[in-house]
Amino acid sequence: MTLHIPFDNSYARLPGDFYTRLKPTPVSAPRLIAFNEALAEELGITGTDDPRLGPVFAGNVLPDGADPLAQLYAGHQFGGFSPQLGDGRAHLLGEVVGRDGIRRDIQLKGSGPTPYSRRGDGRAWLGPVLREYVVSEAMHALGVPTSRALAAVRTGEDIYRERPLPGAILTRVAQSHIRVGTFQVFSSRGQYEDLQTLFDYTAARHYPGATSPDALLQQVCDRQAALVMQWMSFGFIHGVMNTDNCTLSGETIDYGPCAFIDSYDPGQVYSSIDRHGRYAYAAQADIIIWNMAQLATALVPLMPDADAAVERFTEIVHGMADTLRREWLTRFAAKIGIAAPTQDDGALIGELLDLMHKGQADFTNTFRALADGGARDQFTDPTAFDAWETRWRARIEGEDDPKALMRHSNPAFIPRNHRIEQMISAAVEGDERAFHHMRGVLARPYDDQPEAEELRRPPLPTEVVPATFCG
Ligand code: AMP
Ligand code: MG
Ligand code: MG
Repeated sequence: MTLHIPFDNSYARLPGDFYTRLKPTPVSAPRLIAFNEALAEELGITGTDDPRLGPVFAGNVLPDGADPLAQLYAGHQFGGFSPQLGDGRAHLLGEVVGRDGIRRDIQLKGSGPTPYSRRGDGRAWLGPVLREYVVSEAMHALGVPTSRALAAVRTGEDIYRERPLPGAILTRVAQSHIRVGTFQVFSSRGQYEDLQTLFDYTAARHYPGATSPDALLQQVCDRQAALVMQWMSFGFIHGVMNTDNCTLSGETIDYGPCAFIDSYDPGQVYSSIDRHGRYAYAAQADIIIWNMAQLATALVPLMPDADAAVERFTEIVHGMADTLRREWLTRFAAKIGIAAPTQDDGALIGELLDLMHKGQADFTNTFRALADGGARDQFTDPTAFDAWETRWRARIEGEDDPKALMRHSNPAFIPRNHRIEQMISAAVEGDERAFHHMRGVLARPYDDQPEAEELRRPPLPTEVVPATFCG
C-alpha cells in the first residue's frame, strides 16, 4: 500500500514571516527503528506497510500534501531573553485532523539545518531521539498531556558531539508547537499585526471560547498549572523550562535533559546546563508562574488599555499560586488514597514527603508500595515511617476504594534514568532490544508486569546517572 497522510496545513497559510518554508536535508541511509502504529491510526494515517516509511520519516521522500517549514520563535533561556530562536533542526511537515477531531502537527526533529540553526548542525543523535521516544510515550501512558512519538529513524550518518555518534530523526506529534516564545517574537519586535494574527489563530485552534487575550491567558495558566502538577506527581523534572519550551496547548514538549527522580529530593537537578538549579524539581511551580508572566507581557499590546491590561493580567498570573496549590493537593492526595482532600491532608502529604527526603526513599516505589505493601522498607530508617502510617491508615479508613485510587495514581513503571542510559548505550552498539522492551512495558505503567520487575529497580550506586544532556 501507499502511505497516505491526510494533511491539512493551516500554519503554512499564516503570513510568511511566521516561518521559513524549506525542505529537510536528505540523509544517506535511512532505516526505520520504530513506528507508532496506534498513533498513526488515531491520526488517520493509512498505508503504513509502505516500504518507504524510513525515507519518508527521514525527510528524504516528501509525502503527498506535506508543505515543510521551520517555525520562528523567541524565548527566555534560563531567564535571559533570546530575541530570535526558531526551529533550528526541525521541519513541520504539516498538520492532520485526527479521528478525534483534534488538529495535530507532524514534525521531523533532527532533519537538517534551517535559517534558525545558529551554530547548530541541524541534527540529533540517536540517544536523545530514543530518549524522547520512550519518555514522551511513557508520559502519554501515564496520562500526562504531551507531544507524542510517531517514528524514529537512523540516518546512516555520524554526527559529532565531542565524538562521532549515530544520527537519528524523531517524528514528533503535538496539538501544536505554538510556544510562549512564539508570542514573544512578534511582541518584542513590535509586529502587532502578526501578534493579533497569532492570537486569533491560537484561540481558534486551542481555546475556541476565548475571544479576548485575558480569557486565553486564564485558560493557558490553568492548563499549565495542571500540567506541572502532573509532572511533579510523577517525580518528573522537565529540566529546561525556557519560554520557548512552554506550549500554549498545555502539552509537555522538549524532552532534552528531562529525568524522573529516583530517591526523593525536592532540590534535585539533573541537567548539566542548569548550574544554579533554576529548573530543580520543586522550583517548577514557581517557574511556570514566571513563564506565564512572560506570556502576559507579550499579550499586553493586544489590549486597548495597557494599564488595565497589566492589572487584569497580574491578577490572573498571581491567581496561579492558588491553582497550583489546589492541583498539588488533588494529585498528591490521590497518591495516598484520598479522593476529596481537605487542607489538613496537605500537612499529611507534606510530612510523608519530608520523611521520604530524609529517608532517601525511592519516589515511585514508595508511593506504589502504599497500595501494594512494603512502603516502610523504602526508608533508610523504617521506624520513622510507622507513626505516619498509623495516622494515614486512620485517615483513609472512610475512603471508598483507596487502593484502586492509589494504583491509578502511582505507576509501577517510569522510564528510569539509568535504564534509559543503558538502553541508549546498547542502541549505539546496534542492539535495539532494550528500547523496544522499555516501550512495551511503559505503555502499561500502572499494570503489574512481573516479567519486567528489573525496570522497577532503583539504580545501584554504580548505575546512578548524575547528569543529563540536551543532545
Ligand atoms: P532547546 O534547548 O532544545 O529548546 O533548543 C533551543 C534552540 O536551539 C532552538 O531554537 C533549537 O531549534 C536550537 N537547536 C538545538 N539543537 C540544535 C542543533 N543541533 N542544530 C540547530 N539548532 C539547534
Ligand atoms: Mg526547545
Ligand atoms: Mg531541546
